[in-house]
Amino acid sequence: MCENTRVFRNVPLKNYTTFRIGGNAERLLETDDWQTLMQEQDGALVIGCGSNLLVGDGGVKGTVIRFCSNACEPQILSQSEKDTVVYISGAAKLSLLSRYAADSGLSGLEWAARIPGTVGGAVKMNAGAHGSDVKSRIVYADVSDKKRLIRLNAEELKLGYRTSDFDGIAVGAAFRLFRSGVQAVQKETERLGRLRDKAQPKGSSAGSVYKAADGVPAYKYVAAAGLSGFRIGGAKVSEKHANFIINEGGATARDVLELMEKIESEVYCKFGVKLEREVRTVGEF
Ligand SMILES: Cc1cc2nc3c(=O)[nH]c(=O)nc-3n(C[C@H](O)[C@H](O)[C@H](O)COP(=O)(O)OP(=O)(O)OC[C@H]3O[C@@H](n4cnc5c(N)ncnc54)[C@H](O)[C@@H]3O)c2cc1C
Repeated sequence: MCENTRVFRNVPLKNYTTFRIGGNAERLLETDDWQTLMQEQDGALVIGCGSNLLVGDGGVKGTVIRFCSNACEPQILSQSEKDTVVYISGAAKLSLLSRYAADSGLSGLEWAARIPGTVGGAVKMNAGAHGSDVKSRIVYADVSDKKRLIRLNAEELKLGYRTSDFDGIAVGAAFRLFRSGVQAVQKETERLGRLRDKAQPKGSSAGSVYKAADGVPAYKYVAAAGLSGFRIGGAKVSEKHANFIINEGGATARDVLELMEKIESEVYCKFGVKLEREVRTVGEF
């Protein structure tokens, strides 16, 4: 975790994405100080774990911000007989919050086990799984806009299916969880984690590339289009889960982009379905 603020020049972003792909950030700023965030965020790209990002081979011009915090321990804000509101830094791992909830017997974030992003990234993406998502549990997020820190409630964050509509950096968020038994929550968290391990391929990826189309999981279309195992350069459609593109080593962002374009055109030609990307492309391609 970072100590206050550090600035680096020409940093390979492949080291900051789960795809292990991406050119250099012209300037990378790591900070745990939201006032620095406010001064620096105009025009900058904020990243969390880079687990939903395809960064172009030409990198990112200008500033990339990583919001880091030394204070990632969840805090209980309020408790009633029924529920508990927990606050956590936007820089914390979502999986850490899920584990904390399980170990505290708090139900509501079992689905988030092993999702490899930050809380801030999860709010921005309205991350979700197994029929639940951030939207269903969040009370509010503290967001650094260009002038101040503001508190946006669930409605104001405008969370949709893997989308949101707010400007600024989520520096912390509060979640409403329900009191349950420790064993029951741990068991369910483990069960969903195991399901994930069973269904998802290992290797460098950004998780699901596409959103479900009208409720039909995207992998079904990609597989039915005969594209499981299809590769361009070092990028391959996973045979285990056709909604995952794997960097087999040395894939460029261009390889992945071309593979996505191939998938999109094949699925459209065969089924008339326009797949919508969940993975975000950023930077120069
Ligand atoms: C193996 C694997 C499995 C996955 N499974 C799931 C899953 O089950 N469900 C799911 O929803 N996702 C899943 N993902 C995708 C990803 O983990 C989530 O979208 C996650 O929420 C992204 O968080 P991040 O910190 O990595 O954000 P990044 O990828 O770094 O950024 C994503 C977006 O959020 C913005 N952002 C990042 N941090 C902040 C912040 N603090 N404030 C405001 N904006 C911010 C970025 O600018 C960018 O637009 C998976 C990914 C992988 C690699």
